[in-house]
Amino acid sequence: MSGFITYADIILPLALPRAFTYAIPIELVGVVQVGHRVIVPFKTDKLYTGIVSKIHNETPAVKPRLIETIADEEPLVTPIQLKHWQWIADYYLCTIGEVMNAALPSGLKLNSETRIYFNEYFEGDFNSLSDEEFSVVQALRNKKEMGLPDVQNLLQKRSVYNILQKLFNEGIALSKEELTLKYKPRFETFIRLNEKYRNEDELEKLFEEMQRAPKQVELLLAYMQIGKQNAFIKKAELLKLSNTDASVLKRLVEKQVFIEVKSEVSRLGILQNEVVENHTLSSLQLESLQSIQSHFEDKQTVLLHGVTGSGKTIVYTELIQQVVSEGKQALFLLPEIALTAQLINRLRKFFGNEIGIYHSKFNLNERVEIWHKVLNGEYKVLLGARSALFLPYKNLGLIVVDEEHDNSYKQTDPPPRYQARDTAIMLAQMHGAKVVLGSATPSVESMFNAKRSKYGLVEMNSRFGNASLPSIELVNMKIARKQKEVKGNFSQELLDNIQHQLNEKKQTILFLNRRGYAEYQKCTTCDYVYMCKNCDVSLTYHKYLHKLVCHYCGYQEKLETKCKNCSSPTLEISGKGTEQIEEEIQEYFPAVRVARLDLDSLKTKTGFANVIAAFENNEIDILVGTQMVSKGLDFDRVGLVGIIDADRMIYHPGYRSAERAFQLITQVSGRAGRKDSSGRVIIQTSNPSHQIFQLIIHNDFKALYESEIITRQQFLYPPFTKLLQITVSGKNVQTVEQAALWLANSLKKKIKVQVLGPSIPFVSKINNNFLREILIKPTMETGSLAVMKNAIRDVAIDLHQIKDFKAIRISIDVDL
Ligand code: ADP
Ligand code: ZN
Ligand code: ZN
Repeated sequence: MSGFITYADIILPLALPRAFTYAIPIELVGVVQVGHRVIVPFKTDKLYTGIVSKIHNETPAVKPRLIETIADEEPLVTPIQLKHWQWIADYYLCTIGEVMNAALPSGLKLNSETRIYFNEYFEGDFNSLSDEEFSVVQALRNKKEMGLPDVQNLLQKRSVYNILQKLFNEGIALSKEELTLKYKPRFETFIRLNEKYRNEDELEKLFEEMQRAPKQVELLLAYMQIGKQNAFIKKAELLKLSNTDASVLKRLVEKQVFIEVKSEVSRLGILQNEVVENHTLSSLQLESLQSIQSHFEDKQTVLLHGVTGSGKTIVYTELIQQVVSEGKQALFLLPEIALTAQLINRLRKFFGNEIGIYHSKFNLNERVEIWHKVLNGEYKVLLGARSALFLPYKNLGLIVVDEEHDNSYKQTDPPPRYQARDTAIMLAQMHGAKVVLGSATPSVESMFNAKRSKYGLVEMNSRFGNASLPSIELVNMKIARKQKEVKGNFSQELLDNIQHQLNEKKQTILFLNRRGYAEYQKCTTCDYVYMCKNCDVSLTYHKYLHKLVCHYCGYQEKLETKCKNCSSPTLEISGKGTEQIEEEIQEYFPAVRVARLDLDSLKTKTGFANVIAAFENNEIDILVGTQMVSKGLDFDRVGLVGIIDADRMIYHPGYRSAERAFQLITQVSGRAGRKDSSGRVIIQTSNPSHQIFQLIIHNDFKALYESEIITRQQFLYPPFTKLLQITVSGKNVQTVEQAALWLANSLKKKIKVQVLGPSIPFVSKINNNFLREILIKPTMETGSLAVMKNAIRDVAIDLHQIKDFKAIRISIDVDL
């Protein structure tokens, strides 16, 4: 008889297997909707942010607790998002709470454990704050750190949630996570003249219109004095020079005479560099565009296979423009956040302020702000790394997945371990949107889908303009060494070519494969290699820290003078890193400007953009980098790409190694000669006759694909099967082994698919946890896939019922 009592199922951002039922308090009945963010008590007295996934009146078995409060006026999460979250949880075998955790920016997930701090860099004023809010600010300044309970104590009330949220949103308070990002967000507003006024007649008309507004004319003249053409200049600077005030400028921005952009100061270099060009599509681009559009009539997804420099970006831009003109939103996914800086400038030309960027390096209130702008439709185009998939799109019309083959689209840890490309296709399906997958070196899976007509296939086989693909040559290092034509890590041939580029005032990129190329410390007497004490890996030498560091657990060790093992003073740093290559180059070419682009430079949001901007501005002659330099960057003056040691790439274990080597070398080669035909690539190898190099120098993707497809069919790998890996881990090696065996055997009994292992993985111990792996290769029928996944879930639950195995951890990776 409790018909008027309603309940809400709430997803909490925790690894819980299901949503929890709460009662809706009388005053919120009819107010709370699906997708609303609410604050609920959980466990003892902890408060959590949750999302309403369902409203119903099925009385639960256990008396439910009450929802504490509602966090926003409007629902924050859309029904499609909830459906998408559920799909991810089911497909990738994780909990919906884990998906929620990945999906919502932390600024929207305040809970009892959140620690907050005063933002020392806050530059605004406190005028908009209420007395209560202001007293929290005062307390934060004195105390340095507070939690939700502290604020409750301070204000002598329980609902303080909205107060904290406001301080977050205004950028007055920061979370701990953000504090540790260690960069100072410093934003500044830049002003640029509308492109329209590059036309003399338009400009003249503008001056005429302004005749009766002398202040505005003054401002315009001031701009023309310092800002050449359409350059961005600092708002503050302009106001100072023009002797006018902000209200005059505001008028002109409203009239769209000036364009206003808020940007990080460090990106200034890039902003100023903007060239406004009007693109006319080449006939190949036009053809490809039309072909994609006609595929869209009966296919959801199109694979655009276009060689590097073929001008895919313009094709995407056209497609996006069309979708936006139909009033829909578009998402542009990139594999690496570092690439956003360059692309955003190209896209802003078309989409102005309607385009937003989103990735994990943005701070809390920025991300919250973007979330709202997507939700209310202010942003029409979103550019981002994989996490941009989780924004609350209202009506997506198109998703572009650029460099679709890139393995950084796959999240490895923590869960959800999703493949962003595939998850994007699913999201598009839910919106009735289209997808373009673009690459010069498509993944075998995507090409397979295209060949079987599941996707449309469009190919662009030549570069834009008069550029031809770079000429690729192999240098046989074995022979070069015999003939004494090697200096350090460089063949004479490569050095001569670098010199040639310098003479021609061209730039060089030197590429070093990151994988397996850390520098390590070794004793030359006893061959002892310094290993991590927690993990089964060698420690990496960091010159900058002057320490040995573990890349898995962060363990550090000081450098010693004598060997730990045999006490000889014969320790040596081996292996080559980008730092060493950089140093070597500087030694051979002392006057040359060298810079490095690698994982270290990615640690800050700005470091990376700075190096790229400097390279674009010709302030750097030689760029030494890892994987990062291979990904879609577009530079004008690169005449030479040198691949220092290609051999490691081809001997890497794993069924994708040939595909990866081809992709990587082709991509990095693609950075050469993009604007003219003089691009050159030199690959140093000791095995020039290896098949993969032959395919690369002939740019023969088709042959690579054919040979890969045959091997994969023969040995049963994707796309001919799915692949699922279960990792079992724990502190005691015997228990881990027993648990893994128990798990494998139970699975073999339960499901009729290939279960391989348990086996000892390549890195068998991480942070004092021993690891064992089980590999499952199910067939492709979706029905049986669901059955199998349920079986895996059940077996995992059963395992934890066994006393000895309670502390064993299991992680599942689907489509690795
Ligand atoms: P891809 O992404 O296929 O490697 P891009 O889209 O980066 O190639 O294009 C390569 C280069 O050619 C870029 O510098 C781009 O500005 C230029 N380009 C491409 N299409 C056009 C066009 N229609 N007009 C002028 N320049 C173009
Ligand atoms: Zn370690
Ligand atoms: Zn030794």
